[in-house]
Amino acid sequence: MNQFLSRRTFILIPTMSILKIIFKPMQVLASSLASKEEWNLSKDAWKSRLSSESYYILREEGTERAFSSELNNEKRKGVFHCAGCDLPLFLSDKKYDSGTGWPSFWDSIEGSVATKVDFKLIVPRTEYHCSRCGGHQGHVFNDGPLPTGKRYCNNGLALRFVPE
Ligand SMILES: [Zn+2]
Repeated sequence: MNQFLSRRTFILIPTMSILKIIFKPMQVLASSLASKEEWNLSKDAWKSRLSSESYYILREEGTERAFSSELNNEKRKGVFHCAGCDLPLFLSDKKYDSGTGWPSFWDSIEGSVATKVDFKLIVPRTEYHCSRCGGHQGHVFNDGPLPTGKRYCNNGLALRFVPE
């Protein structure tokens, strides 16, 4: 019996270490660093700037419920800004109805977003975030309309719409 236990422990320990190595990077990926020093705010500073729902999306890579954002149906001309730092991210003429229930765009304003790969749903997805404050916006897929073929699937709570 003792022999069996020690043998099992012997196998378990290295397995746990390997799992730790595999899962560690996922935790590191949970929030993106700001590219601008002045936007590297503490958790508390972000919490006082944002509603709890927007904090969950922008700072913890949350996802809002489909069809829950008014911005999904926003059809006016204007600019969609980052709800974290107000950087302009998307123009209304690049918005389209993807039918997914999230505000969708086929292009972003040049240089406004940065991407990384995440494995939250096991299958790798391309996460994108505001290039200035690092706030999570959504995921970009390759099933969008021409000319880019991209679909930026954005959380409405991560955006602030400024009508023209
Ligand atoms: Zn931002």
